[in-house]
Amino acid sequence: MLENTSLQLLINDPELSPAFRDIAGKVQHGRRISPEEGLLLFNEGSLSYLGTLANFIREKRHGDSTYFNRNFHIEPTNLCVYDCKFCSYSRLLKQRSDPASWEYSMDDMFNIVKNYDGQPVTEVHIVGGVLPQYDLPFYEELFQKIKAHRPELHIKALTPVEYHYIFKKAKVSYEDGMRRIMESGCDSLPGGGAEIFHPDIREQIAADKCTGEQWLRIHEIWHGLGKRSNATMLYGHIEGFEHRIDHLEQLRQLQDKTGGFQTFIPLKFRNQDNQMSYIPESTPVEDLRNYAVSRIYLDNFDHIKAYWPMIGREVAQMSLAFGVNDIDGTIDDTTKIYSMAGSEEQNPALSTRELANLIRSVGRRPIERDTLYNIIQDYTDHVFAEDEQFKGYLALPVLN
Ligand code: SF4
Repeated sequence: MLENTSLQLLINDPELSPAFRDIAGKVQHGRRISPEEGLLLFNEGSLSYLGTLANFIREKRHGDSTYFNRNFHIEPTNLCVYDCKFCSYSRLLKQRSDPASWEYSMDDMFNIVKNYDGQPVTEVHIVGGVLPQYDLPFYEELFQKIKAHRPELHIKALTPVEYHYIFKKAKVSYEDGMRRIMESGCDSLPGGGAEIFHPDIREQIAADKCTGEQWLRIHEIWHGLGKRSNATMLYGHIEGFEHRIDHLEQLRQLQDKTGGFQTFIPLKFRNQDNQMSYIPESTPVEDLRNYAVSRIYLDNFDHIKAYWPMIGREVAQMSLAFGVNDIDGTIDDTTKIYSMAGSEEQNPALSTRELANLIRSVGRRPIERDTLYNIIQDYTDHVFAEDEQFKGYLALPVLN
């Protein structure tokens, strides 16, 4: 295998420091790296070195398979009782009259679901701002209505930020609350709200919402119910590499305990229209390094996902050589969370054909999955109707 040869070359490279050769050896043998080694990778690992290691792990686990799913988003509101400094999406309650704010009713949200009747979507992703009217009974009713209408649609909904708030308001424990959420039809949790767990950073950027500990506890309880979830990390703002490693280490430890996480999704800090706009954004090179270190560090996570609307299609394609094996869904212009933060894609929508071609054009295999990574269709050799109409280039006469 080419990557194995590349890795072997690194292990034998006399120019490389012993510490980097040791890490490469650990990766080759599937052994875990320490937090100190993780920090060394962030501080000193070259892009090519990190890419070689991360791609080795990616191909050992998944070969060329690159997953995506067909989903749509419901964002109940962009008003929020919290005031996270990095958030470009939310408006404070006092901005309720701002024409750019919205608060969907139960019927509004249910109508969004009905708009997708007959379409081959497998998942609805529900997440947004935190407001008092969206309480525990409200979400229980919403999930029940969606399930009654379309039982096979996977509901991936709300983060510990919302759950912590609504359980506190309902005076129920996390345990009882998560059980009620499961019984009302929620199938899995997305990874949001994790930001950076370390209190030194979290208190500066997201002071009032649930702590890192509470975020992890809610996922742990959810996993204990036999359910799956994802995890994220917001990077590239005021955190140091040591905070990223602390974050990854806490996720790795919980995953050792529960095995309930499916996918890790690094989220790039974007600086448009928020209280941290003075901070420059990370470069694409740093984004790729971050994917790679995440892939190397999280040896007990199956999947690393790049959220293509946030980093753009080209960096998403490159990320597939830096440990990433999932590039999210063919979302249908139904999310504003990242476009409002200045992400690459202002109207993020890709058809299945476009997404499959984006993956195929970098030599990977596009596989449509459901939320739990059951394979729905392999698009590697699939011929789309639009492509069938292509009859080849016209042969032009050769002029002497
Ligand atoms: S990040 Fe989430 S919790 Fe924080 S202000 Fe924005 S919408 Fe509210």
